[in-house]
Amino acid sequence: MASHDDKSKPYLPLAGLASDGYSKDDEGHEATATCYCGAVQLAFPTEGPGFATSFICNCTDCHKITASMFASNFCILDTHLKHVRGQSNLSIFSQNTTVHNGNTMANYFCKSCGTLMYRVGGGFPGMSILRIGTVDDFHLHETRLRPQVEQFTKDRVTWLKGAEGVKQVEGSAF
Ligand SMILES: [Zn+2]
Ligand SMILES: [Zn+2]
Repeated sequence: MASHDDKSKPYLPLAGLASDGYSKDDEGHEATATCYCGAVQLAFPTEGPGFATSFICNCTDCHKITASMFASNFCILDTHLKHVRGQSNLSIFSQNTTVHNGNTMANYFCKSCGTLMYRVGGGFPGMSILRIGTVDDFHLHETRLRPQVEQFTKDRVTWLKGAEGVKQVEGSAF
């Protein structure tokens, strides 16, 4: 069996230009998230209390902001989010016109490659909403970061089904 079949071990495939991402198995279970070009890297815990939740969002806003059909997110308390490098290389775009409940959502993009690293919104005070797809250890996408809920299923494209075994909510789950 190929090593990446063992989901208990880190699996860091070539995905983007950085090769220094990591995932630790000690207390806090710290892991990294890195942008496509490698200029911006974050570190965060993959367990509580710093790790709050993970979820899929199919809302119309998430279609545009991801340039895809849904967003796969996880929330980290700001007290536990580390900017390993590239914080000054983040560009911020905020608006409140298309966000659920009229909250303002600030989007933090890598200035060089455009990867959306996280969002900060009024609906999630004290935390940042990171993106599962930026996490360097791909096994975490399937294990610790596995979505706990899928929301705005009413806006999901008909050619996708809900995530298997994940609680489905028609509107906002939060
Ligand atoms: Zn970048
Ligand atoms: Zn959304």
